Amino acid sequence: MLTPASRVTKPDPADLLAWYDRHRRDLPWRARPGETADPYRVWLSEIMLQQTTVVAVKPFYLRFLERFPTVDALAEAPVDAVMQAWAGLGYYSRARNLHACAKAVVERHGGHFPSTEAELLKLPGIGAYTAAAVAAIAFDEAAAAVDGNVERVVSRLFTVEEALPKAKPLIRALTEDLVPADRPGDFAQAVMDLGATICTPKRPACALCPWMSPCWARAQGMQEAYPKKQKKEAGQLRRGAAFVILRADDSILLRTRPPQGLLGGMAETPTSAWEPDYQPSQAVLDAPIEARWQRLPGVVRHVFTHFPLELTVLFAKVPKGTPSPDEMRWTPRRALQDEALPGVMKKVLSHALGDLPGTKKAPGGKPVKSD
Ligand code: SF4
Repeated sequence: MLTPASRVTKPDPADLLAWYDRHRRDLPWRARPGETADPYRVWLSEIMLQQTTVVAVKPFYLRFLERFPTVDALAEAPVDAVMQAWAGLGYYSRARNLHACAKAVVERHGGHFPSTEAELLKLPGIGAYTAAAVAAIAFDEAAAAVDGNVERVVSRLFTVEEALPKAKPLIRALTEDLVPADRPGDFAQAVMDLGATICTPKRPACALCPWMSPCWARAQGMQEAYPKKQKKEAGQLRRGAAFVILRADDSILLRTRPPQGLLGGMAETPTSAWEPDYQPSQAVLDAPIEARWQRLPGVVRHVFTHFPLELTVLFAKVPKGTPSPDEMRWTPRRALQDEALPGVMKKVLSHALGDLPGTKKAPGGKPVKSD
């Protein structure tokens, strides 16, 4: 079998950089040629881009930056404000970590991001990929930033036969071997751009690729066979009930989820547990208050990272002055836009009440994947 070691031509970083100089994507967080990259913007964009597309991130990034223009501004903000600005982007643990990291940068480093991969790794919420990406892009350290795009490019270049995630250390080593001493930040962004625009998961545009000639997968016509992946069991469908209660003063009953775990710290209407064998016909037993419950037709569907969810929605109207149960609160309908409501809860409220003022559908109208 052909192995990376048996290859004759090694991909040349200079070919990729020449391609990047002509075809680099113009992204709002990216420094233009001759500009110095801002570590705060690089870090913010890298956190937002984890598991989310560039198209979806762009408007969030610009709004977020307007609201929190510096790491100091972000560190000083209340966590609720950060969660609210993040709402709709999914993976909410990232928003909590983002805030914790901003505080750590201010407290430990006087508001300046540390410049090495090793120091960046010590900050909350910064993993191996983000540390390497920020070190390379913002500080030109010769660090190998390996994300899904890079894994795809490198596994194809070298026809890595081992399946992901086991192949990660090998792919990292192969990437480290490619990082040039000159322009490592541009190199990191160039591989990302190549993976996003040319070396795509399906039908890569190899004829336009600066590494076409040394690419071993291309030579064998096997591009789409890489990266090899271990088969995943599809997440099991969970079901539950959500309770939308409208008080006569036009307010809605909400609560805040626990800070840790799925959608931690976000706002929600009361719900039942979400379980594979939940019986919607019994949902009224889980209702938070006594009321004349109406089960609405249809269900709300949402796809989380690890499982799909179907929620049956129960609706009730209650009189003015109805008190909120413990650890719940009434929020005027017009103020819902100020609540940190995740995508699934916006769907629930829209299902019961129609379009909500100030709330938006997920980017592109697709279900938001979130943790
Ligand atoms: S030649 Fe094709 S498969 Fe190989 S790196 Fe380039 S785009 Fe990807």
